[in-house]
Amino acid sequence: MFLIGCHLSMANGFVQMGKDALSIGANVFQFFSRNPRGGKAKPIDPKDVEQFLEMCDEHQFGPLLAHAPYTLNGCSADPKIREFATATMRDDLERMEHTPGNLYNFHPGSHVGQGIEAGIEMIVKMLNEIMFSDQRTTVLLETMAGKGSEVGSRFEELRQIIDGVTLAEKLGVCLDTCHVNDAGYDVVNDLDGVLAEFDKVIGLSRLKAIHLNDSMNPLGARKDRHAVIGGGHLGVEALARVINHPLLRALPFYLETPNELPGYGKEIKLLKEFRKE
Ligand code: FE
Ligand code: FE
Ligand code: ZN
Repeated sequence: MFLIGCHLSMANGFVQMGKDALSIGANVFQFFSRNPRGGKAKPIDPKDVEQFLEMCDEHQFGPLLAHAPYTLNGCSADPKIREFATATMRDDLERMEHTPGNLYNFHPGSHVGQGIEAGIEMIVKMLNEIMFSDQRTTVLLETMAGKGSEVGSRFEELRQIIDGVTLAEKLGVCLDTCHVNDAGYDVVNDLDGVLAEFDKVIGLSRLKAIHLNDSMNPLGARKDRHAVIGGGHLGVEALARVINHPLLRALPFYLETPNELPGYGKEIKLLKEFRKE
C-alpha cells in the first residue's frame, strides 16, 4: 500500500485531521504536537481521540507522525532552553500515549558553537531523561540540512545519538529529502549510494518515515528551504524514484511542501500517478 500524506493543522483535533486527509486522498499525516513555536499544548479530548481511532480502523491510516516544535533546542548553551526542550518533549511523549504505537519526530538541535560532540552529548542526555520503558511511541531523529550549527546533517551524528540512548530500540530516523540534499547527499543522481551509506552508518531498519520535499537549493547548500514537488532542485523524477525505491516504498511519505490543503491534494494525486504497483 502507498502510504502518502502531508502536514496538517491539529487546531481542530484528530477527527478533523482525519477528514482533511481523506478529502485529499491521504492515508497518513503529520501535525505539530503543539504550537510550532513551543507554546502550551491543547488538552487531549478523549472523545476526539476515540472517534479518530475508529476512523483509523475504518480507513486504514498508516502511522501518525507528530512533529515536535522546531524551536526546541535540547543542546542549547542556555540550560533554561535545554530544560524547556526536555520538559516539552517529555510532556509530548506522555500525550502520545493516548494514540499509542505512532511516531514522534524532532530536530536534534543546534549546538550554537559548543561543537558537535558537546551537542550530541546533550541530546543523548535529554533523550535518556524523557524516554520511558513502557513508552509505545517511536521517537524519530530527523536528518537535518546542516544550516547554522544544526546537529544531525551527517548520518554519523545520528548514529552517535542512537549509540548513547539507553532505550535505543524505541529510536528511529525520519529522512527528509530536502534536508539530505542540502546536507550534501545526492539523492537525485545516486539514491542507491545514499541509501547504502545510510544502511552502513545507521542501518535501514531505523528508517521509519520520509519527509518528501523538493528543495529550493542545490546539493550541499545547507539551507533548508522546502519547494513544492517538481518545483526545486530535486525534481519530480528523482522524487518518483524515492517513492518507488524497493528499500523505501513500504515507508510512510509525508509532504511538507509550501502548500495549503488543495495544493497538497494535487501533489498527492501527482505522486500516485508516479507510483508503480
Ligand atoms: Fe522537521
Ligand atoms: Fe522535515
Ligand atoms: Zn525543513
